[in-house]
Amino acid sequence: MIPAAKVQRTAATVVSSWPYAPAPESKDIVKIADRYGLFIGGKFVEPLSKQHYTTIDPAREEPLSEIAQAGKADVAKAVRAAREAYTGRWSKLRPSERAKYLFRIARILQERAREFAVLESRNGGKPIRESRDVDVPLAAAHFFYYAGWADKLEYAFPNRKPRPIGVAGQIIPWNFPLLMLAWKIAPALAAGNTVVLKPAETTPLTALLFCDVLRQAELPPGVVNIITGDGRTGAELVSNAGVDKIAFTGSTEVGKAIARTLAGTGKRLTLELGGKAANIVFDDAPLDQAVEGIVNGIYFNQGHVCCAGSRLFVQESIYEAVISKLKGRMSTLRVGDPLDKNTDVGAINSKAQLEKITSLVASGVEEGAEIYQPPCKLPERGYWFVPTVFTNVAQSYRIAQEEIFGPVLSVLTFRTPDEAVEKANNTPYGLSAGVWTEKGSRILAMAQKLRAGVVWANTYNRFDPASPFGGYKESGFGREGGLHGLEPYLALEEA
Ligand code: NAP
Ligand code: MG
Repeated sequence: MIPAAKVQRTAATVVSSWPYAPAPESKDIVKIADRYGLFIGGKFVEPLSKQHYTTIDPAREEPLSEIAQAGKADVAKAVRAAREAYTGRWSKLRPSERAKYLFRIARILQERAREFAVLESRNGGKPIRESRDVDVPLAAAHFFYYAGWADKLEYAFPNRKPRPIGVAGQIIPWNFPLLMLAWKIAPALAAGNTVVLKPAETTPLTALLFCDVLRQAELPPGVVNIITGDGRTGAELVSNAGVDKIAFTGSTEVGKAIARTLAGTGKRLTLELGGKAANIVFDDAPLDQAVEGIVNGIYFNQGHVCCAGSRLFVQESIYEAVISKLKGRMSTLRVGDPLDKNTDVGAINSKAQLEKITSLVASGVEEGAEIYQPPCKLPERGYWFVPTVFTNVAQSYRIAQEEIFGPVLSVLTFRTPDEAVEKANNTPYGLSAGVWTEKGSRILAMAQKLRAGVVWANTYNRFDPASPFGGYKESGFGREGGLHGLEPYLALEEA
């Protein structure tokens, strides 16, 4: 018989040497066309601009398709199609009929979930596990949720006469392409508006596949128009006089430019901009859970998350323990092929974003912070960045002030709850925050004092269509999700 001690040692040796076998999701489920037009008036049309650009797979640096670059005349055409659909049909439709279309879209998204997940991961670089388990199900959930409100608006806003406002121009970023599309389109349609939406330049493919969902759902032509292109297309949409409302998610810089363009025009505007969230860990927090929350807070979606917990505040007495657990956990993160089901951290979305992350990380080293990156073998092609943590960070450092939008965490410390609040609020942003403690009263006290639109307690990066999301200060204004998310798309007159 083998002595027990020996068995244990043998088992441990075997476990530590088990490598993960490749588990790639098949690409075959989704067909990508060589070239796409613009989706205007219910069909794909050639761009009047006659211009296309190439969209790529950032994990392989391989071209995927040729995408239309909509010009001024194309934008005008899309806005006209949306206006015709609005006055001709959509605004007159019974709300319960509107709801049926939204329910259909939600169900078709569920049915075609694998297709969307694979395409999202190929075009954007995010791990299939996330597109499959987070992006796509949440996108469907948003359509289900707002479908439910479409015929209950007068109950949602008692003593008011809720009416749609017309044509909504919507501009979205590349970090959650399909999910941001759902956040924008679902409430707009539920409220009775029509839409012209521009996806981000680097991630147009799931929005273009979504056009096929609209066809399947038999949505009347022109109710949703999808126009692709870069920032110039977005700027044309913003300045088009036929648009009644602009909803934008993206950088604070572009958000400010849009606000300037729209000032005095009477057009409605909501802005969902950047963030530099504080994730605050108190000494009574369950540490292993907190470390999972820290990792999920900053390494989820390669840190391309506006509400990422990019500033970690640790109470001094548990600092050593948290950092050592965190480093241990980071060494188990698997970075690589987004289509592999075991991948935790995928590819950086674009070369430009990789350069931005690289230069901000260099500034952190230069300013005197201590950098840690776990040993990690990166693929040869594609855009990658090793999960990174900075300790010894001063509040004044750029890595503690600026949004990096990558897998980079800055750790700071505090002694008292008041000091945590003061440091956490020391930012031009105010989108989200996290609090880790076992005391319910402390959670409530912190939530009241933190100037952030969303405060998570003992969890992080949790989303639900019923829960409003949005910022303070330079993180923008207006809320998406929940009842609040309907308001920007409605004129609420006194009944
Ligand atoms: P961005 O330029 O603000 O992009 C957001 C969207 O606006 C994209 O569809 C973009 O088109 C479009 N756009 C660009 N210039 C425009 C203009 N003048 N008028 C109207 N629309 C315009 O953001 P980005 O360049 O993709 O990323 C830059 C930084 O923004 C990131 O590093 C990150 O810090 C922040 N960001 C925040 C969020 C968020 O969720 N809050 C999301 C993405 C990025 P293009 O795709 O062609 O640029
Ligand atoms: Mg840009």
